[in-house]
Amino acid sequence: MVKLNCWEFTGCERQPGGKKTGELGTCPAATMTKAHGINNGVNAGRACWVISGSLCGGAIQGSYVEKLGGCLKCSFFNQVHQEEGSRFINSREIMKILRQVAAPV
Ligand code: SF4
Repeated sequence: MVKLNCWEFTGCERQPGGKKTGELGTCPAATMTKAHGINNGVNAGRACWVISGSLCGGAIQGSYVEKLGGCLKCSFFNQVHQEEGSRFINSREIMKILRQVAAPV
């Protein structure tokens, strides 16, 4: 089973090299190297719901708390949850990992 990243699932074209990066820039979820590997994703491609300022729907999203209501209803979030099953890394665990991982110098 191929595990898609959010930009592959949504076709948002806001990942590095994407056709829409000229509009709002590159989405921070696609470049968050600290999140690489979480839920088997590339950067935060399978943890995008915790990334503040992501560009879903073509608008700069708010903080994790502000986005959460929408993300919990998102078909991609639910797909990742289903695919990862008991190994799903939830928001609290992701935040903990991101706090622990030092940003690349
Ligand atoms: S968080 Fe949204 S806008 Fe950002 S790369 Fe993922 S699908 Fe695209």
